[in-house]
Amino acid sequence: MTTMTETLTAEQVKQTEAKHVLQLYRRAPIVLVRGEGARVWDSDGKSYLDFTSGVGVAALGHANPGLAAVIADQARVLVHTSNLFFHPFQGQLAEKLCRLSGLDRAFFCNSGTEAVEACLKFARRYWFTRGETSRTQFVALSRAFHGRTFGSLSITADPHYREPFGPLLAGATFVDAADPAALAAAVTDQTAAIVLEPIQGEGGVRPLSAAFAAAVNEAARRTGTLVIADEVQSGLGRTGHAFYAPVLGLEPDLVAIGKALGAGIPIGAALMRERVAQTISPGDHGSTYGGNLLACRAALYFVDQLLDGSLLAHVTRVGAHFELRLRELAARHPIVTEVRGQGVMRGLELTVPASNVVDAARPLGLLANATAKTVLRLLPPLTVTESEIDEAIGVIDTAMASAGGRS
Ligand code: PMP
Repeated sequence: MTTMTETLTAEQVKQTEAKHVLQLYRRAPIVLVRGEGARVWDSDGKSYLDFTSGVGVAALGHANPGLAAVIADQARVLVHTSNLFFHPFQGQLAEKLCRLSGLDRAFFCNSGTEAVEACLKFARRYWFTRGETSRTQFVALSRAFHGRTFGSLSITADPHYREPFGPLLAGATFVDAADPAALAAAVTDQTAAIVLEPIQGEGGVRPLSAAFAAAVNEAARRTGTLVIADEVQSGLGRTGHAFYAPVLGLEPDLVAIGKALGAGIPIGAALMRERVAQTISPGDHGSTYGGNLLACRAALYFVDQLLDGSLLAHVTRVGAHFELRLRELAARHPIVTEVRGQGVMRGLELTVPASNVVDAARPLGLLANATAKTVLRLLPPLTVTESEIDEAIGVIDTAMASAGGRS
């Protein structure tokens, strides 16, 4: 059996896209055709260590045999039924996600943006049902990224993403994560929810401080506002923890997840407390694809690995090694001004555009990603090994020497 990608040359792939695909992405100039574990291969047969994992999605590595077997098995039986009917897997997946998160119910959708969107709607519905119909405002953070639908875009800070699409949702305000007092001032009895990423991903891999988390808890206690944690990037094991909000001492009422959940098959979810769930009625929200059999089977396979504990222990172990090696690297390269992150979610703040390093690393066999202009972001699969980390560090070392000079 052949695929189109195998029959087209890299040049043909690029030309066809240039002509027919909406030009939204500045793609790296390679065509990826195959993967295995932490590695991918391009159409010329060149291999790369993948420290993007599809922006934090391929949590179990590429072409994971166990995951592939589960997907193939389900594809032969029943892929999709819609939410008109029961199927055996949504309830099981919801139960396991509740066990993992300590929350009570799950709504399934297809992406991180949709998960955030659902959380925003559920927060408004919560106050509406309780008769506080004017309580509609959201307090979000500078540097936040929550997605690109109108709701999630409305609480995404970057003017570059927002400006062309106004007017956005009314009632969103932004506070700086370095300023707990600003949060205290912004949250009132008109705030429906505070929305935050426990570690800001696209904003440059920035964990929230303990002081800020304490201010969130205090504001929630004072006003009764809901707290929404967007764990689309930081959740589901990437930090060595199932979720990062509890590590900060936060107790969110709603949690958005996506990315790693299906380990490559699109699925997202909004997890919530019972008191929120009780305010929502049939028909309030929904999705045709959301939580279909194929996506739930993939997610069950992944979530079982998280519940088993050994994957989290692995991330904690290799994450500590990763941090050590990154700090050594930073000490050798004056262009690195800060090492941030947890587990296998890491960012290096640079004095030069991070794309310089990304572009220098790619021909040397490493895929990484630049975010917030000057942050080199590294998101390998959760299954990455210490020797693969060492290999990546070696490439970054060389790439940094060529991209920014060396001490
Ligand atoms: N929230 C966060 C924290 C994210 O990092 C992202 C994606 N980078 C999203 C939401 C949006 O997810 P998706 O692209 O799957 O819609």
